[in-house]
Amino acid sequence: MTDHADAATLLTAPRVRALAEDLELRPTKQWGQNFVIDPNTVRKIVRLAGVGPDESVVEIGPGLGSLTLPLLEAAAHVTAVEIDARLATQLPLTVAELAPQLADRLRVVQQDAMTLTELADPQPTALVANLPYNVAVPVVLSFLERFPTLRRVLVMVQLEVAERLAAAPGSKIYGVPSVKSAWYADVRLADRVGRNVFWPAPKVDSGLVSMVLREPPSTSARREDVFACIDAAFAARRKTLRAALAGWAGSPVEAERMLRAAGVDPSLRGERLTVEQFAAIATQRIR
Ligand code: SAM
Repeated sequence: MTDHADAATLLTAPRVRALAEDLELRPTKQWGQNFVIDPNTVRKIVRLAGVGPDESVVEIGPGLGSLTLPLLEAAAHVTAVEIDARLATQLPLTVAELAPQLADRLRVVQQDAMTLTELADPQPTALVANLPYNVAVPVVLSFLERFPTLRRVLVMVQLEVAERLAAAPGSKIYGVPSVKSAWYADVRLADRVGRNVFWPAPKVDSGLVSMVLREPPSTSARREDVFACIDAAFAARRKTLRAALAGWAGSPVEAERMLRAAGVDPSLRGERLTVEQFAAIATQRIR
């Protein structure tokens, strides 16, 4: 339950329109600017994220603040990373107007999230965002890599990407994003979201992806080496692992040796392997 003192006024469609008009904002496709105009959706995102009152949240792409406002209610701190200077400048003003009692919990960083390598303390424990769709996967993977203090992630992305991230081995859509995110976390599709909760409405449906961080698979190989093995296996998706990993291993014979030593059938394709199996193969390369 939210304390009454922490309640923020949330952005509805008329408020989003008024803010956009004041800023003379024309949402750009380049930055994936589709703003949420539905308070129920942002409340659901915060609930599914499981953000606690001691938590420090990083939000990528706060936009006009639709999700930032309920995050400020729920968490101790929110660091909002926004690429668009107009939006980054406006956000503290919007919070000061609609939730002045929460304003000191907010820090805005005007930067491209793809180039962000560190954040001032407190370090983030949760990543919660309605992501710009064209950079969703690289942004999530780079944050998982760069911010080891993260314990959970809840992101809204294009439904197809959400399904890909949460896919299990053996399914057609299982691929590099599925295996790499499974390195860090238990990943699941938490919900689907329709188009009309956004302004402007996107051409595709969206999905909410939940990631609960856990220890990576045990291996003496470095993460980069396991990821190189995954990239090689999926670069030649239709090939057997013996053939697909030949370049990575040095030769088909070496690839076969490593696969057998890791207990993996060399005639399989990468789309059938768990992240633990990729870790086991990469372990053989450093032997
Ligand atoms: N969170 C807001 C909401 O739910 O209404 C806006 C979400 S909108 C889908 C994506 C936001 O990410 C936009 O505000 C856009 O300007 C911002 N953005 C796009 N690319 C970015 C990047 N590389 N780094 C940081 N922010 C970015």
